[in-house]
Amino acid sequence: MAMRIFKGKGVYGAVAVGRAQVFKRQEAHVRRIRVDDTAAELERLEAAKAMAIEQLSGIYEKALREVGETNAQIFDIHMMMIEDDDYNDSIKGIIETQSVNAEYAVAVTSDTFAEMFASMEDSYMQARSADVRDISNRIIACLSDCEKSEHQAEECMIVCADDLAPSETVALDKDKVLAFVTAYGSANSHTAILARNMNIPAVIGIGEEFLNELEDGVQLIVDGHTGTVIIDPDESTVQQYTKKQQEDTHKKALLQELKGKENITKDGTSIKIYANIGGVDGIGAVLANDAGGIGLFRSEFLYLESNDYPDEEQQFRAYKKVLESMAGKKVIIRTLDIGADKQIDYFGLDKEDNPALGLRAVRICLTRPEIFRTQLRALYRASVYGSLGIMFPMINSVSDVEKCLAACEQAKSELAAEGVPFSDSVETGIMIETPAAAIISDRLAAMVDFFSVGTNDLTQYTLACDRQNAKLEPFIDTHHEAILRLIELAAKNAHEHGAWIGICGELAADTSLTETFLRMGIDELSVSAPFVLPLREKVRSISLK
Ligand code: PEP
Ligand code: MG
Repeated sequence: MAMRIFKGKGVYGAVAVGRAQVFKRQEAHVRRIRVDDTAAELERLEAAKAMAIEQLSGIYEKALREVGETNAQIFDIHMMMIEDDDYNDSIKGIIETQSVNAEYAVAVTSDTFAEMFASMEDSYMQARSADVRDISNRIIACLSDCEKSEHQAEECMIVCADDLAPSETVALDKDKVLAFVTAYGSANSHTAILARNMNIPAVIGIGEEFLNELEDGVQLIVDGHTGTVIIDPDESTVQQYTKKQQEDTHKKALLQELKGKENITKDGTSIKIYANIGGVDGIGAVLANDAGGIGLFRSEFLYLESNDYPDEEQQFRAYKKVLESMAGKKVIIRTLDIGADKQIDYFGLDKEDNPALGLRAVRICLTRPEIFRTQLRALYRASVYGSLGIMFPMINSVSDVEKCLAACEQAKSELAAEGVPFSDSVETGIMIETPAAAIISDRLAAMVDFFSVGTNDLTQYTLACDRQNAKLEPFIDTHHEAILRLIELAAKNAHEHGAWIGICGELAADTSLTETFLRMGIDELSVSAPFVLPLREKVRSISLK
């Protein structure tokens, strides 16, 4: 096949050359097929179950090494569920009585058991519903031959998909991803953010035709600078892009010289440059890029990476690790921000018509105080290991802040009564993500130590443009005057009421706005780690006089 060129939107300026891996969801499209030899079908079932258990024990071992026993346990539970008598009796009964294929029997059993669990009162049992579907999908995948996808995971690949949900990106083996290409998606989607954090190119909104043309394993070039993706490049094109890759590496090496230097303009105005992380594994990049602190730890990834609610101890360990690694530099941990595009099965959230306007972020914490309490206790316990800021997402009103601060007080008084130490210099802050919050920022600033502007959501809510909808890209002007005025207003109000203000949305890394932000008096910019040094370079080139 000849070389083919596609255009999308580049969200991180880097080049990758590698093979395509078309990301497939583990959805089982199962057909009902009549079989004459049910004994042979039962044998197929046993072989697939054995294969599933072998896979799970490998995953268990890996998880044990990488994320510890508590997190690994779920795979042990999955292995037990596969052997469960009731589950197996149901599958075998369907094969024998209806003379049907094993895939169909597993799918029907999966639905019945998942619905049964989902209807139970106990939230632990409800969460098992997703597990039944998970193990059933695994058995079905084994029945219909999964050797191919296992083989692919051996090599580094360019992941190509229609779009990727945060819950899907956490499941990827990130060491083996060279780049992302998605047919849909938008610049503020979490796939784009993940690519920036991982320092790898991503091209989004490339269109469905690209996926139709694509075959697993074909060679691709992804240029995140220009949004170009080339299928089956010829030799001279590969050489041209390999050269571009080398130039990128050279530029990055030059930036290393800025390590240890101040973020200060030519005329002496300084600004803090922090980094955003999604988990403990992001700390390496934060330190390697010399960020002054962590301006946003998206704690919801702890929940997304887990198959059940992470308990206080698990959370405490993660927060402690981050605080200790940052050795006294500021670490701002945002409380759970799920809902909308970040869905987690075990939360059992209702399906909503407008999830971005729905029960998300702090709204979940305020309606499910037990979840909030666990997180706040873990945060305060960890606070003695460094300089912690706790930040609440999706704040809209004075009463939201009052409730969050009351929950903090409650967590602290519990710990005090138990004799558990916590720091008394923890800062509390809120995200400015809605026009409402920006407009009443005078009232809110008086209640907290800091603001951090979440421009991804602030843009979505100000312009009424769903950040997940790629079709809206032409309507999203990230520099819209309304957004900049809201940020300016929040900055003015923060300073008038004794709070400091940062920006942690993707706009913080947009160097065409750095001067504007400096003039507004923004105190801190928090960006994906690979942007810290380019931003420092920009700040040092500016004169505000
Ligand atoms: C934002 O909305 O700008 C933000 C930083 O939060 P998230 O992207 O996680 O919603
Ligand atoms: Mg947000």
